[in-house]
Amino acid sequence: MKISALDLKRQIAPIRQEIDAAIKGVIDNTSFILGAQVEKFEQHIAQYSGAKYAIGVSNGTDALALALMALGIKAGDGVICPTFTYYATAGAVASIGARPVFADIDRDTYNISIESVEKILTKKNKLKIKAIIPVHLYGQCADMDGILKLSRKYKLKVIEDAAQSFGAEYRGRKAGTLGDCGAVSFYPGKNLGAFGDAGLILTNNKAVAEKLKILRNQGNENKYYHLVLGRNNRMDTIQAVVLDVKLKYLDAWNKRRLEIAQYYNKNLAGVAIKTPFVPSYTTHIYHQYTLRAFKSNKKFMDYLQEKGIDSRVFYPMPLHLQICFKYLGYKRGDFPEAEKAAGQILTLPIDPELSRKELDYIVQTVKEYMHG
Ligand SMILES: *Cc1c(COP(=O)(O)O)cnc(C)c1O
Repeated sequence: MKISALDLKRQIAPIRQEIDAAIKGVIDNTSFILGAQVEKFEQHIAQYSGAKYAIGVSNGTDALALALMALGIKAGDGVICPTFTYYATAGAVASIGARPVFADIDRDTYNISIESVEKILTKKNKLKIKAIIPVHLYGQCADMDGILKLSRKYKLKVIEDAAQSFGAEYRGRKAGTLGDCGAVSFYPGKNLGAFGDAGLILTNNKAVAEKLKILRNQGNENKYYHLVLGRNNRMDTIQAVVLDVKLKYLDAWNKRRLEIAQYYNKNLAGVAIKTPFVPSYTTHIYHQYTLRAFKSNKKFMDYLQEKGIDSRVFYPMPLHLQICFKYLGYKRGDFPEAEKAAGQILTLPIDPELSRKELDYIVQTVKEYMHG
C-alpha cells in the first residue's frame, strides 16, 4: 500500500467544478490582484474567525512580517518565538531587521513554554524585546492566557503564528484572534490551502488593519502617493476565489481529521508511544498528527516509509541550531526540550480523505515496528 501525507487530488476532485467556475470568473473579469473578490473573501474569513478585520496577503511569512511592521516593531528590536517551529516564524522577524529571541517548548504540547519565556523576560539583557510570536503548532493553540499575561506585564505586542491552526479554538475563540494580530498561511499543504502562495492577517484593531492594507500594497493609500515604505505583498484574486470555495468545506475536513486522530489514539493505546496531548483550553485541527516514540525517530520513519507510509519529522532541527541563525549565538543544549523532541517525534498521515482500510494498515504497521 502507498499512503501519502496529503493527497490534494482526492481533496479537489469532488469540488472541481465549483473551483473551475470560480477561476474562470477571475479570468473573465481580468482583475487578478486584490479587488472586489479578495474583499469578499476577507469578509468571509472575518465572519468565520470572528476577527473584526482580515487582510489578504501574498503568503504566511509576509503576513508575519507585515504584522510586525504594522505593530511598530523595528530593526534591532527583539522578538521572542519558539525555537521549535517552521523556519518562517523567525525568518519573518529577521527579514525586517529585528532579532529572533528563541524560547524552549513545553514537553507535552510542543508549543512555546511559558516558563522559558518568563526566564528570558526576567533576565537582565540588552535584547530590547518588543514582541512575542506564539506558534500554534500542528493545529492546536499555545497557552494564550500565559502569553497574554506576560505581554501585559512586559508591554509586548503579540502576533500569533496561526499558519498551522486556522480554525482551531482557544477557549471558544478562533486561533489568530487573541493577540494584536494573527498570521495565517494558505500554503497548499495547510488545512485550508490555496493553489499557490497566499496568506492573511487577522486583527481587531482598526488602525492596525488600515496600516496593513497600506503596507501590503507598496505603502500607497492612493495610487502613486506613498505614505510609508511598504512592500508588494498583495493577494492574488485567483487564490482568493479558490480559498473562498474551499472555506465552506474547512470545518468538515477538520472534523474528519479529528476523527482520524481519535481513531489512531484509540488503536495505539497500549503501544509504547505518546499520542498527541491536547490541553483543555484548546481544540485541535490536526494539521499534523505527531507521535513520540522515546527513541530515535529516524529508523522509525524509515521503516514507515519503506512500508509505503509517508511519515515526516516536523522539524528535525530546532531553529537555534540552524546555520542561518548562527549569528544569534545559540548553542546545542540551550533548549533541551526542543532538541529532544526533534529527535523523537514523527507524523502519521492525517489526510481527511484516508479510508478505514488505509488507517488500519497504518496502525498495524506502527504496531509491527514497536513490537518488533
Ligand atoms: C507554513 C508556515 C508559515 C509560513 O507560511 P507560508 O505561507 O509558507 O509563507 C509560517 N509559520 C508556520 C508555523 C508555518 O507552518
